[in-house]
Amino acid sequence: MPTGIEWTDETWNPVTGCTKVSSGCKHCYAKHQAWPRLSSMQNTVYTSREFEDVRCHAERLVQPVRWTRQRRIFVNSMSDLFHEDVPDEFIDSVFGVMWACLWGRDEQPGHIFQVLTKRPQRMRDYLSQDRREHWAHAAVSHGGGMDPDGIYDQVMDAEGPHPRIWLGVSVEDQVAADERIPLLLQSPAAVRWVSAEPLLERVDLTSIRLAGGDFDALRGGDVGHSVRIERRPSLDWVVVGGESGPNARPMHPDWAKGLRDQCAAAGVPFLFKQWGEWADAEDFPSEVQEDYDARGLTESMCIRVGKRAAGRLLDGMQHDGYPANQGSTS
Ligand code: SF4
Repeated sequence: MPTGIEWTDETWNPVTGCTKVSSGCKHCYAKHQAWPRLSSMQNTVYTSREFEDVRCHAERLVQPVRWTRQRRIFVNSMSDLFHEDVPDEFIDSVFGVMWACLWGRDEQPGHIFQVLTKRPQRMRDYLSQDRREHWAHAAVSHGGGMDPDGIYDQVMDAEGPHPRIWLGVSVEDQVAADERIPLLLQSPAAVRWVSAEPLLERVDLTSIRLAGGDFDALRGGDVGHSVRIERRPSLDWVVVGGESGPNARPMHPDWAKGLRDQCAAAGVPFLFKQWGEWADAEDFPSEVQEDYDARGLTESMCIRVGKRAAGRLLDGMQHDGYPANQGSTS
C-alpha cells in the first residue's frame, strides 16, 4: 500500500495486530489511529478484530513479488514481524519472499525491505539459526514455483545476509537504546538502523551501556574514539521523529538535534522524519507562539502547532540521509 511515511515507498503487512511492549507503544499509530478505522470497514482482514488479535496473512505474501518497480518496502507497519504470536515458519515465508525479490527486471536490483522491530531478542535468536533451506523453499514457492534466476541456489550459497534487507529497532529512550541496539548489532544484516520515533528523551548513541563497558554504536567501538572503527558492527542509518496524534508527547528540540549532531560527527546518515504534533518554538515568531499550547522541557520550549505546521525541518534544514551502501531506489 502506498504510504505517507517519509522513509519508505510502500507498506507490506503480511502480519497484522500487535501488543504493546514499551512506552514508545503508548500511542501506537497502528492501534489508536489506523485500526479503529480499518476494523469498522466491512470485509477486510481487520473487520471487527481487536488489535491484539495477531494474525498472519499467507495470501499477502506474494504482494511484493508482483510489484515490478523497485521500491523501499516497510515490512509490517501494522504489526511487528518478531511478535511472539508469529510462528517461525511464517517468518521463514516472509524472508523467502524477500529473497524471491532479490532481483528486479533485467537483473536490476530488487526491492529494499525495511524491517523494524521492538523485539530484537527474537530477531537475533531467529537469525542466529541457519534458516536458508526454509527461505530457499519459500522463495521458490512464493516466486511462482519457477526459479529462472536460480534464487534457490543463491539463498543456499549465500554466506552473508540478503543485501537489501535493512534491519532496524525502534528506540524511544536510553533504556530502549541500551537494550535493543546491542541485539540489533548481533543480528546479521546488510544495513542496521534505528528509528528514534517517538523520541521521548535524550538518547546518546555514542554511549550504549553494556555490561562489559560502554559502547559507541555509531562508530562500532569503545566510547571515546573520534573516528569510525569498523572492528565491530555499527549503525548505518538513524531516523528521528516526534509523536503524532491527539495525545502526542512533545519531543524536545535538543533531543532531535543531539542525534543529528552525533550522526554528523560519526558520518552516519541521518533522516529527520517529522516533528509530530509539537514543534520547536524557536521556529515560530513570538506572536504566533502565544496562540498555541506551549510546554517548557528544561532548556527550551515546544509548542503544539499540529503535524502539518510543525513540518520536518530541523534548524531550517531538511535531513534526508539514507544508508550509504544502498542509496536511493530511484
Ligand atoms: S510494537 Fe509497534 S505496532 Fe506493536 S504496539 Fe508497539 S508501536 Fe504498535
